[in-house]
Order: sequence, then C-alpha cells, then structure tokens
Amino acid sequence: MVDTTENFDAVVVGAGFGGMYMLHRLRGMGLTVRVYERGDGVGGTWYWNRYPGARCDLESMEYSYSFDDDLQQDWNWSEKYGTQPELLKYANHVADRFDLRRDIVFDTKVVSAHHDPDRNIWTLTTDTGGTATARQLILATGNLSTPQLPKIEGIANFTGRTFHTGLWPREGVNFNGRRVGIIGTGSSAVQAIPQVAEQALHLTVFQRTANFSIPAHHGPLDAITREAHKEKYNEIREAAYQTPFGIAKYGSPTQSAFDVSDEERQKTYEQAWKTGGQALLFCYTDLLTSRKANETAAEFVRQRIRETVKDPEVAELLCPKDHPIGTKRLCLDSFYFETYNRDNVRLVDVKETPVTKIDKNTVVVGDNVFEIDDLILATGFDAMTGAAKDIDIQNGTGENLAGHWAQGPQTYLGLMVAGFPNMYLITGPQSPGVKSQMILSIEHHVDLIARLIQKLHDEDLNSVVPAALAQDNWVSHNNEVANSTLYPAAASWYMGANIPGKPRIFMPYVGGVKQYRATCQDIIENGWRGFEFE
Ligand code: NAP
Repeated sequence: MVDTTENFDAVVVGAGFGGMYMLHRLRGMGLTVRVYERGDGVGGTWYWNRYPGARCDLESMEYSYSFDDDLQQDWNWSEKYGTQPELLKYANHVADRFDLRRDIVFDTKVVSAHHDPDRNIWTLTTDTGGTATARQLILATGNLSTPQLPKIEGIANFTGRTFHTGLWPREGVNFNGRRVGIIGTGSSAVQAIPQVAEQALHLTVFQRTANFSIPAHHGPLDAITREAHKEKYNEIREAAYQTPFGIAKYGSPTQSAFDVSDEERQKTYEQAWKTGGQALLFCYTDLLTSRKANETAAEFVRQRIRETVKDPEVAELLCPKDHPIGTKRLCLDSFYFETYNRDNVRLVDVKETPVTKIDKNTVVVGDNVFEIDDLILATGFDAMTGAAKDIDIQNGTGENLAGHWAQGPQTYLGLMVAGFPNMYLITGPQSPGVKSQMILSIEHHVDLIARLIQKLHDEDLNSVVPAALAQDNWVSHNNEVANSTLYPAAASWYMGANIPGKPRIFMPYVGGVKQYRATCQDIIENGWRGFEFE
C-alpha cells in the first residue's frame, strides 16, 4: 500500500485568528506548516457565529491584529464594534494578504493526534482519511468553538427549524411571519433577540438565568476617530499590555467603590452607562473582589432595567440576582431590554420550572405549552476544553489529554501540558485568553510558541514540555487568584458550570494581562523556568 502520509515541521489545528497568525509566524521562520480547519473558510468564531446581531463586544480598533503595522494602517473598520460580517471579511483579507490559504486544508476535522516518543513525532489523522506527521503540534482550536446542545426530552422530535447560534446557516435565516422560541439569555441571545423580534411574528424567550447587560452604544466609526487612533496605534497597543484585560481603553482603576460618596459613585456609573461597553466594571478596584462593592454596580444596572422595561413583573424577572455583576461575561446589547416592551415578545422563566420537553411544534414548561415554528438554541459552548478534548490526543506513554484533564484542565501558563511534548495551546485554560482582548492574547501566545520552537531549532533540541511541578504550581496559582475574586461565585462557563458533569474549576487566569506578561517574561529570562528541554 502506498503511504500517503504527509510530513511537516508543524501542524496547526484551526484557522481562526490564532491558527492564521501561527501559520504566518512559523512560515516566516522557514518551517513547513499544515493547518487543518473544519469549516470551509478562515475566521473561527466569526466564521461560525453568524446569528443576527452578532458582533464583538470589544471595540474594533483594539480587537484586531497588531503584528503587522501596514495591516493595521490599511484596514478601515467601519463600525465601533466589529460586526460578524466585517470581522469575517477582515479574517479573509488577512488570509489573502499573507497568502495563508495554500497551507490550510478546509472542511477537515482532526480526529486524532498521537505522539511517538521514540521518534518525537506527532501523527495526526483526519475525518477525510488523511494522515500527517509533524514535530510540533499547535492547537488553535478556540475557546468557544464546541456548541452545547441542551439535552431536553423530545428535542429531536421538533418538526420546525432548529438553529444553534454557534452553527448559524451561512445563507441566513428569514423569520418573517414565524413564531420563534429562543432558549438562553447569554451574550449571543442578548444580541440576537432584538433582531429576531423585529422580524418574527412572535418571539418567546426561555430564560433560565437573567444576565447583566450594558448598552453598547454602537455606531459608525468616523474617519477622524479612526485616523487619530491609527496615528497612535503602537502607543495604544503598548498601553493595552499594561492593563488588566489587555484593553487600552480600560486601565486599572485606582480607588475603591467606598472611597467616594454615594452621589459621586452614582455619577461615575451613569457616565460609564453613557459610555457603554465594559466601562462600568472598570470604575473601582473592588468591583470584582468585594460583594458589597459589586452590589453597588449590580443594583445600578438593575435600576436601569426597571426604568426600561414597562411591565414591572417582566422587569423583575430580567433583573439578575443570583450572581455578582461581571462574574459571568458582561453582555453588551443594542436595545435588549427595550425589546421586552414589544407586543410580540414574551419572556418565560424556566428557572423554577425548566423546559420539560419539546414536542413536534411545542415547547412545554410545566403546565404551559408554547407553540413555535422555529427554535433557536443560544445555549453556549463546552468552553475552553471542549474542542481539544474532542480530539483523541495521546502522548504515547499511556496518557491522553481528555484523561489528563478529567478533573479539570491542567496546563502550564495555558500554553503547554505536562507529559505532552511539543504540543502547544493558543490561549488555553489558565491563561488570560477569554478574560482579555483575545487577539492581543493570541498574538502573545503565538510569539511565545514561535520563540520556543526557534529555541529548539537553534540549540538542536528535540522537544520541550513543562515540568509536572511547574504545571501543578501554575494550576494552584490560577485557583488562588480566582478564589481571591468573586468570579467563582457564578455558575458560569468560566467554571465549567454550563455543562452537566464537567468539573467545576475556574478556568481562565484572572491575574490580568499585565501580570501574566510579566510572569512569562520572568520565566523566559530565567532560562524558560518550568520548561524541560530534551
Ligand atoms: P452562554 O453565555 O453560555 O449562554 C448560554 C445560555 O443558554 C445561558 O443563558 C444558559 O442559562 C442557557 N441555557 C443553556 N442550557 C439551557 C437549558 N437546558 N435550558 C435553559 N437555558 C439554557 O453562551 P453564549 O451566549 O453563546 O455566549 C458564550 C460566550 O461567547 C460569551 O460569554 C462571550 O464570551 C462569547 N460571546 C461574545 C459575544 C460578543 O463578543 N459580543 C457574543 C456572543 C458570545 P444559564 O445561564 O442558566 O446556564
């Protein structure tokens, strides 16, 4: 039989923003690279999440690549927050500009990756029957890329159309004249609901947990603002590295919520509300560490909800009371709460009585039956670990990644996993990734991975892997940092709480981008402390 195995220096799984930049970097180092992508185009999150209203919750001038100055100077964002179509256009522009597609195999899912410790080689197989080997394996599989479909009795018998926000049909969906039901009120739903309500005959929202949402105050980006930003682009990027979340606009607050009078605090929140976006969370130092401080911001937002929603009962249902503000991803919206004033929108609480079953064209909640034509599942993702665990990754010495992570993810810096040589994660668990400006964190990790691979090459080394103790210490540190905040108080996807049976461990690193980058720098200056080279 002819061996059709293809051999590369590196294989990258995923052609989202992480995989694309990784390919570009490794190619620049003279390596042969193959990227596998399950979609038929680049863009990752922005390829899959095409639901109405989908847009980034970080401003486009910041949420973009910084690695190439000509790219950031040439590209013109048209809106304050990038829309999904514009972000996808940007991803395609980058792919064209850097001629990335020739090394990407689309419509192909990596099924397994097995390491051979004797040859120090990874062998990958794909769902199209392909096999490839590489010394370096980079998982650019994304943090929110494995859609979670709820296990509701009878869901398979639903006779209408069903859509998951993270698997939205490319051709779009027309809801004209349709009775639509949507399950979920997270960031995706909060963006989709106002748009679907505009079109549909009727929309029923099934809400399990009310969410905090802040107006985005979205709008066009005028040329003057854009050009002023571009003039200072590098300065602004540098400033972002010095902030907790890698967002230049949101620097470190300097005072406690109780250093100021009630009136002053109210004014500050009002100003943040007018600014929109995540600004509110950056008003005071203790909003994410003190329940009392947090409650001042939470109550401020609840008051805005009560002012906006005309029906007091509906307003009260929409007021989040079971988690501190900011401990679940703060949603950004355009007229979300206002939508509940429409005659064609109904809110159904499914906290006390969950969705009992779905049958033919109905959603049943206890004794109440709701007839619908279309069902939207805005039910989120198996976040942070789902995509990597979906691949059968074996290290050749008796361990697989899913088993290694059975009690929750364990990584060193969110970058590598002990026992899995030459395998790298881009913004993996226990890195700031999802708690930061993602593209900034992606670029940081890609640069670290490129430096490690360059070191192997320069020093004629075979492999790099984190020491088990270094990993244990990093995991403990991650947990300590999280436990010093309010984050673990919410049953969030950060905690794995949205997936039945998933270990409840706070997954992102919340010590901040500035601290994380300083730690990485210190590790490098100390001979890549915690990494073992062979
Ligand atoms: P999500 O935040 O996990 O929200 C899922 C929603 O579905 C929650 O309201 C959840 O309720 C509900 N749900 C799940 N299973 C259910 C069931 N069986 N019955 C009733 N309700 C159920 O997912 P997402 O909205 O897709 O957002 C995920 C993350 O993606 C966001 O946090 C954000 O980081 C990112 N995102 C960003 C943007 C943006 O940049 N603007 C937009 C969309 C998404 P519970 O809360 O009770 O579990």
